[in-house]
Amino acid sequence: MITGETLLYGLVAHPAHHSLSPLIHNMGFDQQAINARYVVFDSQSQPAAVSQAINTLGIAGINLSMPYKQTMRPFVDMLSPSAQLSGAINTIKNDNGRLIGINTDGDGFWRALQQASPMQNRAQTVILGAGGAALAVIEAAASYGVQTLTVFKRANQTYPQVAKRLAKIATTRHITINLYPFDDEVALQQTLATTDCLINATNLGMQATPGFPIAPRLIAQIPSACLCADLIYAPRETAFLKTARLTNHPTLNGLGMLVEQAALSFEFWTGKTLVTAPIYAALTEENKQ
Ligand code: NAP
Repeated sequence: MITGETLLYGLVAHPAHHSLSPLIHNMGFDQQAINARYVVFDSQSQPAAVSQAINTLGIAGINLSMPYKQTMRPFVDMLSPSAQLSGAINTIKNDNGRLIGINTDGDGFWRALQQASPMQNRAQTVILGAGGAALAVIEAAASYGVQTLTVFKRANQTYPQVAKRLAKIATTRHITINLYPFDDEVALQQTLATTDCLINATNLGMQATPGFPIAPRLIAQIPSACLCADLIYAPRETAFLKTARLTNHPTLNGLGMLVEQAALSFEFWTGKTLVTAPIYAALTEENKQ
């Protein structure tokens, strides 16, 4: 029941109405009998206005997605070291008017992978794309057994600044990171020949942007023990994951990342654990409708 004491949490993003986060967090509040609700704010306001709204309305916590993960950084009072290093935040806690920003995407992805395939070798990992989500996954990788990360990114205007950020992550996290232009097919083929884990962190394969991040013939050539993972969860099986499955590779979609990053945000806000089994069941059910 909503009362005068009910705390308000939410997602600020655009587009946002498709989000599964309200289902996840409201189940969590019910599980833990926390007097709080989570709603979606589909917003295109300036980041400064969002920050002001959080404080003015006393919103207890916010998740951020496109286009706010990077732009909200200057408008919080404190950043966790991993948010600072990855350059993006996906979670804000309002601590009595002090906004604290963290990023749970990276740990969320690796926790999901660890749970789904605990024995999976990931020493040599390849990441396609270097946007906000990819940088969070890259920043957290060293804590989950990755030794060498090879990143492929389009050689556009953001390439030099991404190269700089990757160099900083490599030094700070004591990990080897190589960066190549997306269209360097020789480097791609050579790297894929020895990869343990191949992650699609581009938008390619989403409902709005269908297609493959790399040519299907390359997927067939990678080692059969290589895990093919996609950060995308809508659709649950992208063209990339379907081809990987049909060529007998283990696969992982982005649903686990979605749930695990939410669980970490929930814990940060409330100090309580999100019990994820019923949430996975509800999301599977939701997918059938
Ligand atoms: P983003 O910051 O916009 O980054 C998108 C990346 O995709 C960029 O590196 C971009 O390349 C690359 N890209 C786009 N079109 C491309 C193309 N035609 N060829 C090669 N590269 C292309 O987005 P994001 O927030 O990182 O999200 C990336 C994906 O992760 C999305 O599909 C999103 O749904 C998913 N995601 C999932 C979760 C989850 O919980 N499962 C959480 C966050 C994000 P440039 O850098 O060259 O522009």
